Amino acid sequence: MTQRLYDEDAYCREFTAVVTACVPVKDHFRIALDRTAFYPEGGGQPGDTGKLTVESDDTTDGQETWARVFDTHEKEEEILHYTDSALPVGTRVRGEIDWDHRFDLMQNHSGEHIVSGLIHAAYGYNNVGFHMGSDMITIDLDGELTMEQLREIELKANGVVWSDIPTKIKLCSHEEAANRTYRSKKEIPGTVRLVSFGEADTCACCGTHVKRTGEIGLIRILSCIRFRSGVRVEMLCGKRAFLYDTQVMDQNRQIVAALSAKPLGTAAAVHHLKDQNQTTAYRLAGMEQKYFAAKAMTLKGEQNLLLMTDEMESDSVRRLTAALMEECSGICVVMAGNDESGYKYALGQADTDLRAFVKEMNAALNGKGGGRPYFAQGNCSSGKAQIADWFRSREEGWRIEEG
Ligand SMILES: [Zn+2]
Repeated sequence: MTQRLYDEDAYCREFTAVVTACVPVKDHFRIALDRTAFYPEGGGQPGDTGKLTVESDDTTDGQETWARVFDTHEKEEEILHYTDSALPVGTRVRGEIDWDHRFDLMQNHSGEHIVSGLIHAAYGYNNVGFHMGSDMITIDLDGELTMEQLREIELKANGVVWSDIPTKIKLCSHEEAANRTYRSKKEIPGTVRLVSFGEADTCACCGTHVKRTGEIGLIRILSCIRFRSGVRVEMLCGKRAFLYDTQVMDQNRQIVAALSAKPLGTAAAVHHLKDQNQTTAYRLAGMEQKYFAAKAMTLKGEQNLLLMTDEMESDSVRRLTAALMEECSGICVVMAGNDESGYKYALGQADTDLRAFVKEMNAALNGKGGGRPYFAQGNCSSGKAQIADWFRSREEGWRIEEG
């Protein structure tokens, strides 16, 4: 059984130990030590990373033998360091934890407890799933919350950070724990490790935590979506939250510059821009409709018609084809685009089943698409000359028009 140094001191970053086992598994090695400060994955907290360096009496050659620890897991009370190289059993090693990685996990894990505790106290909801990803922390709750409610929780949680409350960790017997109120995901047999942050939260947890809440620095709740019977909340704490905020502020600064908006007026400015865009789109569609009708009038009385035009939105291609169908009696095809980016097409003929024609055209012109029997839309990647040649070669006779 490995002695767990992180249980005694979560701030232990360096230690010495003896290699008790080293087993090759697939492309890596699993090393056990008599004692370790590497935290094994558990309780939602990922395993530690770092390195194990062989302690050598021979300082003359200057060469160090070491193994990179890329993950840590626990198996049958033994802590296994997943490494990229082997170390001989019996060797004394110096273990070093990647402290930036671990401290980030401590800030986020402690922050998560405070947020979950405050939600539980205010709404009675339980944290039923906790995941610390490499870029995001998520909490799954068994009840629904709005973003406004979470903003209140976030402010309270940061209040706990600013109060700089000392973290209390207490090992309780099963009986002792039974008389206390604490959050726990499951019934724990034997000793219960209770982690408390003042009045904000007490929770059974095996993870590593900051000494005082002030070290969390910042708690940010980023989003909330419906998930199973409740919600999934995304959050970040500490340096990760700060760096995220920095990126958001950089994005905001760019919008401020692009739209000449005030820093706190960017949402209103974007909504205004969207409204303006929609108005312009309506006006453009109205003008296009008039143009399409006039264009169709110039082709009035035609039978099978292929009209090749410049690039247009799919909806415009559809409306132009519909306008032509009003005036022409055969199949109306519109091909809009150019040889570089390909062509969008729409085609139709009232009360006619064109599916066989569409299939044949797609096969001949490298096209994809379909629709209703009398009207289809799609795109093709053949060139202008090839498209015109195919229509010209057909028996039914086609008028080919550009513009
Ligand atoms: Zn925990």
